[in-house]
Amino acid sequence: MTLLTFRFAPSPNGELHLGHAYSALLNQKLATAAGGRLLLRMEDIDTARCTPQYEAGMLADLKWLGLVWDEPVRRQSQHFAEYAAVLDRLIREELVYPAFMSRGEIRAFITDSEARGRDWPRDPDGVPLYPPADKALPAKERKRRIAGNAPFAWRLDVDAAMARVGKHLAWTEFVDETLTETRPVEARPQDWGDVIVARRDVPTSYHLAVVTDDALQGVSHVVRGQDLFSATGVQRLLQELLGLPQPAYFHHRLILGPDGRKLSKSLKDTGLAALRDAGASPGDIRRMVGL
Ligand code: GLU
Repeated sequence: MTLLTFRFAPSPNGELHLGHAYSALLNQKLATAAGGRLLLRMEDIDTARCTPQYEAGMLADLKWLGLVWDEPVRRQSQHFAEYAAVLDRLIREELVYPAFMSRGEIRAFITDSEARGRDWPRDPDGVPLYPPADKALPAKERKRRIAGNAPFAWRLDVDAAMARVGKHLAWTEFVDETLTETRPVEARPQDWGDVIVARRDVPTSYHLAVVTDDALQGVSHVVRGQDLFSATGVQRLLQELLGLPQPAYFHHRLILGPDGRKLSKSLKDTGLAALRDAGASPGDIRRMVGL
């Protein structure tokens, strides 16, 4: 039997809050119940916003909470060469293309198109999809712009990718925290349009690093917040293109703030460090998140 593997994968660009505590503790509870292991991964590809100080704070908070994980901690910033190799494959297979439009140009394009009475499609987060112009650029023009140091990002050609896969994509989602029953969910990566898979200077994006790491680390169970539910479609597509195994997923409820909104790293009063300083115990935190 292969070892069941769970992971908690925060981005050290702020402080942990109650939502992270719930996710980490739920992963630990499920890993323990399954006789599996729990890994900790620092998703720190954004080296401008992620800092060693935030990481140290997270490690201290997690230890205080009673989280126990298998060492070593994987830091994505130490594995750029591995992501670059994966990106190269997608470039060679012409599944990604260099996208040159700046945010301002995208906005202008969409405003212009909507002024002519056409609603521009938005992704599940409400962000307008990337316009199709760059996909049609001749290879020579792409080379010329790259050689001229034009800023660009590598975007997935989602239509080409879906055509390559050539079948309906789905993932396996557990129906609740007991992880006893599953249901298939249709993956709809098209809803996100041509997502960014890497930057000019950073050979990966969140999606590419997650699927690469989940496979490399043998993650069998991805347990994370409901806010990532529909992004799973993009990750399933990348797994399929790259021939990676597919984990089973459980997207758990989100812990909401007093105002009923999703917690953010800037909400100081639900930060674990602030709660601890105010006298809360790890047991109090468990009760606050319903575990
Ligand atoms: N690093 C992501 C976050 O902090 C989570 C990624 C995942 O669990 O797949 O939101």
